[in-house]
Amino acid sequence: MRRIGVAVAAALAVVTVACTAEPKALPATTTTTTTTTTTVTTTTPPTAVPGPGGTTVPVFQHPYKYGTPQAKLPASPDGLLPVVRRIETDKPYVFITIDDGAVRHPAALELMKSSQTQPSLFLNTKHVAEQPAFFKALQDDAKSTVHAHTANHPNLQGKGYEFQKQEICGNADYLQQQTGVRPTLFRPPFGNYDGTTRKAATDCGFKALIMWTAAVNDGVVQFQAGSKLVPGDIVLMHFRNTFVEDFLAFLNHCKAHGLTPVPLEDFLSTTLP
Ligand SMILES: [Zn+2]
Repeated sequence: MRRIGVAVAAALAVVTVACTAEPKALPATTTTTTTTTTTVTTTTPPTAVPGPGGTTVPVFQHPYKYGTPQAKLPASPDGLLPVVRRIETDKPYVFITIDDGAVRHPAALELMKSSQTQPSLFLNTKHVAEQPAFFKALQDDAKSTVHAHTANHPNLQGKGYEFQKQEICGNADYLQQQTGVRPTLFRPPFGNYDGTTRKAATDCGFKALIMWTAAVNDGVVQFQAGSKLVPGDIVLMHFRNTFVEDFLAFLNHCKAHGLTPVPLEDFLSTTLP
């Protein structure tokens, strides 16, 4: 054993000497050929980063410059705003929407920013009014877009025009005052609406009524059809105590199925892409 150890040490000594000795010969050479080696460094973007509370957050690179129109708003069938349940696209894109605003989870901002997603938020006046700065940060720092969900979250179905208009327009006015931008998309509470809702939302200036094709509850992605998200799905989740579990469940599902969350607004443009 000792002999082998010595042999290895001797071999290492030779290697060491060989490595350090060689450069010493260079100054003696009068004719030298200079070889310039160009090292091309390619930076591979991270696919995940450390997140709040020891979590791992999947990262999504932007497949195009966000804020650039990709598809036009569907035509209105009857002069009232169109109802959008999913986005027609052949690209591997899905859309995340987050409703209400009842629980302002402290990790929400960091999760949105680190994943590089830009969710669409459908907010009620009564929840935003409790902590406006929380939602302003999601808008300004995470580049999420704020949309409307009524003032008080009532079931609109079957209610009179004036009641519905007050809930919908009042919410739009409040959000415009808070964010500086008038919301363009409207989602009825519980997904319940009727012809009066569409009339009121149209009169309040909204461009589309947004439904959904999948949801996240208690950290589980749930589908209306099939067993996974598919391109064009609009996913619904809420500002709840389970925000971290829900948001990560959505992101991980996207990553596992080769899907990228992109801004919903880019596919409902009022200008031609
Ligand atoms: Zn709601």
